[in-house]
Amino acid sequence: MRKPVIAGNWKMHKTIDEALRFVKELKETELPQDVETVLCAPFLALPALVEETKNSGIGIGAQNAHYEEQGAYTGEVSLPMLKATGVQYVILGHSERRAYYNETDEDVNKKTKAAHAHGLIPIVCVGEVLEERESGKTMEVVAAQVKAAVEGLSADEMKKTIIAYEPVWAIGTGKASTAEDAEEVCSFIRSTISDLYDSSVAEAVRIQYGGSVKPENVASFMKQKNIDGALVGGASLKPDSFASLVSQASEGEKQ
Ligand code: PGA
Repeated sequence: MRKPVIAGNWKMHKTIDEALRFVKELKETELPQDVETVLCAPFLALPALVEETKNSGIGIGAQNAHYEEQGAYTGEVSLPMLKATGVQYVILGHSERRAYYNETDEDVNKKTKAAHAHGLIPIVCVGEVLEERESGKTMEVVAAQVKAAVEGLSADEMKKTIIAYEPVWAIGTGKASTAEDAEEVCSFIRSTISDLYDSSVAEAVRIQYGGSVKPENVASFMKQKNIDGALVGGASLKPDSFASLVSQASEGEKQ
């Protein structure tokens, strides 16, 4: 059985104080134990968040990392640096990074390998843009992104990798994919992994849906066989909305 993961992606939101206030409020709510709850925050807030969430069951993640361990890369943060703060997860290849910072499939692959080398769980984002969806290329685009991202991973590393299927047209637009369409792509991602490895590896991989997920629609995604959680932007920014999203996710999973 795969344990679902609900990960908040705060993007470029929250000072250290704001992040701490969020987590203090979230800790006062009763979070379901059958769902893994993760917050992916800006770098600066990570050490304080790791400290504040100790023994709370809430995992902390970064939103990017460089693939080199160290070096002359002004402004970058490496995976050993993240590991040293106690961060457990890292989002890689988010569509905003691909679009605004020219991240390529090759970069995402190097970062994914480096994440595993340093014991972090990568949340690897893939997804088609609107034009690709409308021209019937969704599966082709997503398969190519998945294959490139995981190239060279051992079976064990593959099993630990989380894939986030995020159709770009659904991110921040309020227009989520239908649960059925998302399931179709997530099921296809699982079969792509099965072809690359084998079915036991593919069955272990957690695949999230992301793109305008809210407390009101999360259960519909969680009910799907191949969707094991969500990557959530806008609806993760307020503790009450995020707490209700996690509990709705748990309800949906049971159905
Ligand atoms: P959204 O963002 O939930 O605001 O659509 C999702 C994401 O970018 O991960």
